[in-house]
Amino acid sequence: MEYIAEPFKIKSVEPLKILSREERERRIREEGYNLFNLRAEYVYIDLMTDSGTGAMSQRQWAAMMTGDEAYAGAQSYLRLRETCRNIFGYAFFQPVHQGRAAEKVFLPILLSEGKFSVSNTFFDTTRAHVELAGAEAIDCAVPEAMDTETPYPFKGNMDIERLKAVIAEHGAQNIGAIVMTVTNNSAGGQPVSMQNLRDTAAVAKKHNIPLVLDAARYAENAYFIKTREDGYADKSIREIAREMFSYADAFLMSAKKDGLVNMGGLIGVKEDALLIQTVKERVIPLEGFITYGGLAGRDLDALAVGLEEALEEDYLRYRVGQAQYLGEKLREAGVPVQYPVGGHAVFVDAGNMLSHIPYDRFPGHALAVELYKEAGIRCCEIGSFMLGRDPKTGQQLKSMFEFTRLAIPRRVYTQAHLDQVANALININARKHTLPGYRITDEPPVLRHFTARLEPVR
Ligand SMILES: *Cc1c(COP(=O)(O)O)cnc(C)c1O
Repeated sequence: MEYIAEPFKIKSVEPLKILSREERERRIREEGYNLFNLRAEYVYIDLMTDSGTGAMSQRQWAAMMTGDEAYAGAQSYLRLRETCRNIFGYAFFQPVHQGRAAEKVFLPILLSEGKFSVSNTFFDTTRAHVELAGAEAIDCAVPEAMDTETPYPFKGNMDIERLKAVIAEHGAQNIGAIVMTVTNNSAGGQPVSMQNLRDTAAVAKKHNIPLVLDAARYAENAYFIKTREDGYADKSIREIAREMFSYADAFLMSAKKDGLVNMGGLIGVKEDALLIQTVKERVIPLEGFITYGGLAGRDLDALAVGLEEALEEDYLRYRVGQAQYLGEKLREAGVPVQYPVGGHAVFVDAGNMLSHIPYDRFPGHALAVELYKEAGIRCCEIGSFMLGRDPKTGQQLKSMFEFTRLAIPRRVYTQAHLDQVANALININARKHTLPGYRITDEPPVLRHFTARLEPVR
């Protein structure tokens, strides 16, 4: 598969160092075989996440110098608002400091004890804020999302029939919000089709339930619609994004993804005046005054430029092309990956690759540790280690998949870096039977994967 060359050149460089194999083995052992404990300076290529890890452009850095740090009514805010109006077409925009802040401010307005919220798949922090509001989160992913081999084009879609069944079961008046995550992060960055958005919006409208986009990767999703869905090949990414947002009543966005900034988030409300008023009232105590929302003026300016740059088709072709290139290279060499690959990451099917390691010895984690030892590459496990234990019984839960996720930061790594990643995994694959599983020696009660310590077991 051809690599789509970068539609930019590099002006500012950040040196990388690679430790010797002995040193890498020592560091990861000292850190209890947990990659979150590792200092970033000991990492050569960091594919832990694509969130807030991208490179800003010269236009964004220049825009930062124009930041207006006025507490109220800053020009930076007005510029961001104008950009948002142009792209999304909504009446109201609220900057916040990141995606989960948007969730914290917005979701309790629609959700409370006894309510339900339905999504194609909730991202973890979104699910957490649904539950913190007292409501129950229900995922309705299409069955194709579970099939890691068939090249179905829109594995991120909502299962419309299940959505209707959930509404019938709990009663429309008890469903506080339908949340459509684009792209569907937890399903591997898989896209949602325009038809599916339209169908979901029709169900929401019929039952008078607000439809909320969780829009962190709106531009990548628009690019998939353009390249995969009938009738969109000749539309611009901007037109497609505009149509996507037209079906929802509000959106929440972590701008650390397609906003192309290192920190930031947004809430958008299409027209509902009461909802707008309530967001304004809640944001002041939680995030800050309406015209800055927890961000510096310069951050608002960088975001205004980032939102525009993310819609450039050359950029998106290269961006989505990187994940496809890495995925294809691995597949050709017999490393099992989720197929087709999504927009922001390649998911290696470690459960399948390391079939000698059972789920409770964490094959996805075993592969992530080995990749660090092999080549100084950091990534993370998405599987039983992350899922944790049943809170009632303390039993280790078994995840549907045991993935090792290679998330690709935006505009950061080159083809040669991706080749290094592929070669390291191909080397490991050739001696996969020698890899040990891992046992937890120390773990906190919640979100253990961030701080737990482990040791290898054979
Ligand atoms: C990253 C992300 C969030 C949370 O955003 P933060 O900026 O990390 O707080 C919410 N939803 C989706 C789909 C995301 O990818």
